[in-house]
Amino acid sequence: MTAAEISQWETVIGLEIHAQLATSSKIFSGASTAYGAEANTQACAVDLGLPGVLPVLNREAVRMAIRFGVAIDANIDHQSVFARKNYFYPDLPKGYQISQFEHPIVGKGQISISPAEGEHKLVGITRAHLEEDAGKSIHDQFPEQSGIDLNRAGTPLLEIVSEPDMRSAKEAVAYARKIHSLVRYLEICDGNMQEGSFRCDANVSIRRRGSDQLGTRAEIKNINSFRFLERAINHEVERQIEVIEDGGRVVQETRLYDSERDETRSMRSKEEANDYRYFPDPDLLPVNISASDIAEIRAALPELPEQKKQRYISELGLSDYNAELLTANRDTAVYFETAFAEADATQAAVLVNWILGDLAGALNKAGLDITESPINPAALVQLVARIADETISGKIAKQVFDAMWQGEGNADEIIEARGLRQITDSGAIETLIDEVIAANPEQVEQFRAGKEKVLGFLVGQVMKESRGKANPGQVNALLRDKLK
Ligand code: ADP
Ligand code: MG
Repeated sequence: MTAAEISQWETVIGLEIHAQLATSSKIFSGASTAYGAEANTQACAVDLGLPGVLPVLNREAVRMAIRFGVAIDANIDHQSVFARKNYFYPDLPKGYQISQFEHPIVGKGQISISPAEGEHKLVGITRAHLEEDAGKSIHDQFPEQSGIDLNRAGTPLLEIVSEPDMRSAKEAVAYARKIHSLVRYLEICDGNMQEGSFRCDANVSIRRRGSDQLGTRAEIKNINSFRFLERAINHEVERQIEVIEDGGRVVQETRLYDSERDETRSMRSKEEANDYRYFPDPDLLPVNISASDIAEIRAALPELPEQKKQRYISELGLSDYNAELLTANRDTAVYFETAFAEADATQAAVLVNWILGDLAGALNKAGLDITESPINPAALVQLVARIADETISGKIAKQVFDAMWQGEGNADEIIEARGLRQITDSGAIETLIDEVIAANPEQVEQFRAGKEKVLGFLVGQVMKESRGKANPGQVNALLRDKLK
């Protein structure tokens, strides 16, 4: 496909995100939600849907949903209703899933995303509702047979449905990351995508640029990383353009993303909503939420990423971009704040540069999370302090950082052991300068004849002689003096 062909089309994306709520027991029973237990050891009579048992709503799950709602400035209905969504599947023993349909707990809200440096966009959130997860079918453990594990049945989920407001895979990823960050800040979901605690379905359609009608969408399931989300959407967009340009039409269907083959393929044509025969669950009372419940939850909200970001900008003078990066992941913000609490207040920007630069790079390369960093916040503060008090230069600090990363000790120990202390004794620096002047008569001549640029070369020579340890500012000043 040529770029021109692609550019006639506009992409439209809406996401459905399932965030597993971090309650210790299930949404309608007391069974544990802990991940990784032996199959079918955490499913009780309620989760199995045995006759004669009744669901009892987990108050904590409701509180968590409301926490999310107030964080996105959504309408919270004072009455919310659970409904049965009827369908048959082997991992759904009751024959229906308890979900919400007409009266979701969280109504319309919105969230601001930043798809690229300096870009901001508001994405509408249609609703967020509570529901129970289904069990799991296991197809790879028994030859010619499938197993059913019902441990996951009844695990509380918050399904967060966006408006079809995203216009590219990049925007969809920025949105998904933002929600991911938010639920972790709120401590309502652990966000673990490998374990399925945070899952995205992408609804994708295309339309001719300029059209204000929505095209037919395909829903892509089975996406378990942000990277795959971007790839799956881009593939799906290309596929739909090809279908239409070949004279066909896109059919509404559910497609599965296959990360190994990097393609989407059809799973089933889409059921219409009324196929599910939704109706209010007679076993569960409507949930009444008072204004004071909501106010109480609102008052107990932690500082949210957006507020944190604005505070970093206004109080610490960080750039919009750095503040965004620092707050995007709660653990990064915690690392920074722990460090900053021990650092000199003037060192905010320098600390941030180390965290977002060398530290982030090293973590990324090692595939480590910042909570697993071999260099803890206090250790990084010490390193930064040694640059500030001129014990070492910024350049030598990188060597010290690498050694700290390798576990050679803290900054002071490494500086001592390797003899890296900066040379600030002007007598010692002058000796080096004299040597360099003697060894480079030609360059000295050129400088004296007015060629300013040569000074950089001579400074470089002195730094090299000192093995990087001379104080660069002093070298500069003293060298100028001598050359006069
Ligand atoms: P369902 O529950 O059947 O999947 P919804 O109406 O709840 O259907 O929509 C699900 C998601 O699909 C929402 O995030 C919505 O924004 C998105 N969506 C709806 N129509 C389109 C479309 N034409 N193109 C892209 N996304 C769409
Ligand atoms: Mg859907």
